[in-house]
Amino acid sequence: MSARIVLKGIGASPGIAIGQAFVYALQTIVPLRKELPQAQLKAEVERLCVALGATEKQLAHLRQKLSAQEHGLILEAHSLMLADPLFADAAKAAILSKGINAEWAVFETTQELLAHFDALQNPYIRERRSDIKWVADSVQKNLAGHVFEEEEDGFHLPENSIVVADELPVAKAVFLANEKNTLAFVTQGGGETSHTSIVARAKQLPAVVGASTLLQNVKPGDSLVVDGELGEIYVEPDEGMLRQAKRKQRQQQAQQMHAQQQAHAPALSLDGHKVSLWGNVEFIEEVDMLLKMGAEGIGLFRTEFLLVGKDRPCSEEEQFWAYRRVLEAMQGRLVTLRTFDLGGDKLPGEPLEKFLEGHVEKEANPALGLRAIRLCLGHRELFRTQLRAALRASAFGNLQLMFPLISHFSELHEAKKELEACRASLSVQGIAMAKHIPVGMMIETPAAAWVADLLAYEVDFFSVGTNDLIQYTLAIDRQNSQVAYLYSPLHLAVLRSLQHIVASAQKAGIPLCVCGEMAGSSQHTAMLLGMGINSLSMAAVHMGKVKECIQNTSIAKAQQMMQAALQKSSTEEIEAFIHTQMHAMYVDHNFF
Ligand code: PEP
Ligand code: MG
Repeated sequence: MSARIVLKGIGASPGIAIGQAFVYALQTIVPLRKELPQAQLKAEVERLCVALGATEKQLAHLRQKLSAQEHGLILEAHSLMLADPLFADAAKAAILSKGINAEWAVFETTQELLAHFDALQNPYIRERRSDIKWVADSVQKNLAGHVFEEEEDGFHLPENSIVVADELPVAKAVFLANEKNTLAFVTQGGGETSHTSIVARAKQLPAVVGASTLLQNVKPGDSLVVDGELGEIYVEPDEGMLRQAKRKQRQQQAQQMHAQQQAHAPALSLDGHKVSLWGNVEFIEEVDMLLKMGAEGIGLFRTEFLLVGKDRPCSEEEQFWAYRRVLEAMQGRLVTLRTFDLGGDKLPGEPLEKFLEGHVEKEANPALGLRAIRLCLGHRELFRTQLRAALRASAFGNLQLMFPLISHFSELHEAKKELEACRASLSVQGIAMAKHIPVGMMIETPAAAWVADLLAYEVDFFSVGTNDLIQYTLAIDRQNSQVAYLYSPLHLAVLRSLQHIVASAQKAGIPLCVCGEMAGSSQHTAMLLGMGINSLSMAAVHMGKVKECIQNTSIAKAQQMMQAALQKSSTEEIEAFIHTQMHAMYVDHNFF
């Protein structure tokens, strides 16, 4: 079994696809540079304004079309880009100051913006460069008099297409995801947080992103196998490999079908313990799939995604509607809204200082800096607006609130005080709110983990953010691929922290849920169950496999396994032990 070449990227959305490469090239339209007489410049600016207006109208039309498919919200970034002075005003100024045609002014401005984005360290923002390209292309087409809708509606892919691209602008990703012939996405750029990944996960299309040499190794029409779980792309696979891929695909499809049929069956362990499965949500459009997969509720609503990539905070009204939509869609199930975890690697589209219209120092260590609850407590208006919106929305469903990255008692006290003050002022205004809103906190720092026994008496629930808990416990940047080999969920320090957090919650009698990526990984399910954890929150795509894993796990055995693992010392020793134990536990299944 072999393939002409095997490419490695990041598995952004699980599943196997077998098909042909459809290479989607983002055509950067390189226009002609023309120098215009002074007298013509005003009219040229006017021509650009008309093209910008036409693009805005097309975006509105797209939004309308897409909202039915529940992807409208993410197009907002394009509209904001279109209105951004760095784009529109800069292009107009270039026409007037350099005496050039609108096409060249747009081209030049776009190149400058792209160069600026390429220099940024923040992956969330860097990934938005495809939005700029899309907007610039549309404006160029409008300047050239193209008919936009015809192009979109007439866009057809050959059967069994695997879309291969450098990057996919979000509007294109949505359209391609809705095309019946699209089987998967593979991109050279992008990361787990790029729009392509998010759309792929929401649409349950396999996807591999960040495959660095993709475009030099794949030609249009090449036969491809994509493994969205392992993050692998096989180019020109031989017969043996195709057979193996088809077998794996059939297995996964059967698992998926089984998972959907079982969506409403409880996640009961072999020895009869019930485990609660919750969903993680970044975008409102993910809620549908969570319901299909039988999520009991939302264990983590990453509300900061409403702000990521934006150039201004959302208003109270915008947030109220976003929260209300999610609460209503969940039909009475519990929704855990996490207050903004902004800062660190999750940044808005503007420098924080401009976004918050206040003084913010440039940070040497953003992950240890003004992030999450720290940022909210330092920018009270941002925090109060969110709390007010959430409190108002609480009248429309079953809401609980939690605060991220608490490391000091004072932060928790201050956050709760703000919440109470907002509640009191809304109450005076006669605004309806839920009578009781449970208030919890995330345990994501070693500081919180080690005082969890005391914190547990101050909140209604704990939610363990293992992504950050591991990052801060092991001092390993979770985004840095150079030290990724040291990012180990099975390090004894992580296991001991979890053990202490769980014991603290149990002693105080409060619920605890794990919502980091570990919760959605069947490799870690037995370990978490063995620790006494019975509530897990994850992306919809992982729910089926984790539930099946639970159904094949004896909690009593998992507990014994964890007791023994906690007696070992090195990470390698613990990993090898758990691996052997899992092989014995799941003889007929592969949960690795
Ligand atoms: C975590 O840290 O595990 C978590 C769920 O929060 P985020 O990944 O959004 O930082
Ligand atoms: Mg976190």
